[in-house]
Amino acid sequence: MYQTTLNNTVSFEGIGLHSGKHIKVHVHPAFPDTGIQFRRSDIKSSEYTKASPYTVSSTQLATTINCNGGQISTIEHLMSALYGLGIDNAMVEVDGFEVPILDGSANPIVNLLYGAGIKKLNKKRKYIKFKKRIRLEREDKWIELIPSRFFKVTFDINFDDDFVGQQKAYFEVTRDSFSNEIANARTFGFKKDVDALHSMGLAKGGSLDNAVVIDGNQILNEDGLRHKDEFVRHKILDLIGDISLVGYRFFGHIRAYKSGHLLNNIFAKILLESNYCYNMIELEDDKEPEIILQRELNPQII
Ligand SMILES: [Zn+2]
Repeated sequence: MYQTTLNNTVSFEGIGLHSGKHIKVHVHPAFPDTGIQFRRSDIKSSEYTKASPYTVSSTQLATTINCNGGQISTIEHLMSALYGLGIDNAMVEVDGFEVPILDGSANPIVNLLYGAGIKKLNKKRKYIKFKKRIRLEREDKWIELIPSRFFKVTFDINFDDDFVGQQKAYFEVTRDSFSNEIANARTFGFKKDVDALHSMGLAKGGSLDNAVVIDGNQILNEDGLRHKDEFVRHKILDLIGDISLVGYRFFGHIRAYKSGHLLNNIFAKILLESNYCYNMIELEDDKEPEIILQRELNPQII
């Protein structure tokens, strides 16, 4: 399999969830081995910086990277869309502090990327194939990776709140399952937390147009949920985006319990540093990702 990029530049704009400002983003095609690089186009001294677990500067409320002279926040939905569609290389320009929240999901970005099309580059892609289990625990939260022939995610959330409560979801992550089952799950929050954030001058751009808001036993969004388990699906969307900072596509089953941006980021570093637990491999080009990642008939842990 060869590395990929976009056929042409895609652009989008909208409100930033935290700053409330109107921000524009351009995602450009890039050469092999570029990875996903970000730059603040409104700051002259800001240089393109590769998104990696080590360039993350904050995981509070969103994942933020430091790009040599400027911060860019809320990169996780864009990162997730690029990984989910199998795009390895891109140069991203953002003219403000954060990637716009759009509808709170990755769906609008996925549609734009599909519209641009994906281009094969002339350099082989490297995959990480894990051969040992890796686990991280912090208080009552944990995240682990189990060797697998496929990339799969299982996520459990457990909120005290009755409405969200406990939700569990499992996906084998392919371009199709990502696009159809994961990408459109929206950010969510509890009304009491949103009110507290507003009073601290945070989540200024947050509204029912870009987040599911839960108030007691109901949600305030008139159109309801996109999936019964939209909350846990969104946690999977975030996790794929955060873990994609590893910079390689990989084979393994990630299982997470109550994980968030901070734990995801620590785990991404641990994965990269656990080189005694994996092999770097290349795949033959005649195997398209859809075939390689086809549904397992007899799922088992190897
Ligand atoms: Zn999110």
